[in-house]
Amino acid sequence: MECLGCGACCTTQDDLGIIHTVADTRGLPDWFRKGLVERKHPEGILALGAIASAPLVPSPHGKQCAALAGEVGTTAMCRIYDDRPSVCRKFVPGDEGCLRARQRCGMTDNG
Ligand code: SF4
Ligand code: SF4
Repeated sequence: MECLGCGACCTTQDDLGIIHTVADTRGLPDWFRKGLVERKHPEGILALGAIASAPLVPSPHGKQCAALAGEVGTTAMCRIYDDRPSVCRKFVPGDEGCLRARQRCGMTDNG
C-alpha cells in the first residue's frame, strides 16, 4: 500500500473537515491558517482546548483538504507534509480508515 500519490484520506464527504488541534496549527503557512475554522471540542476536553477544521475545497470525491495538491489516486501530495497535523499522522497505510478512504475514492486495496 503506497501513500505516495494517493491522498484518499485527505478527502471527506462531510463538512467537519480535517481536525487539527491548536498545537497542530503552529508553524502552518498563513494561507492555510486563514482558512481554519475554530470549533469547540465536542466532548469539551479542556486539555485539548479549541480544535480547528482545515479549509476544504471541492473535490471529485466530495471535499478535500486545501493543502492537498495533485490528483487523488495518482499525483496527490500534501503541501504541508512536514508540518501536517497529528490526525494526519495517525492514518496507517492498510488500516481500516485507510482502506475505507481508498474505497470511497474508487481505489482498489492492492495498489
Ligand atoms: S494512509 Fe491510506 S488513504 Fe491515506 S494516503 Fe496512505 S494509502 Fe492513501
Ligand atoms: S494536511 Fe496534508 S496530510 Fe493532512 S489532510 Fe491535509 S493534505 Fe492530507
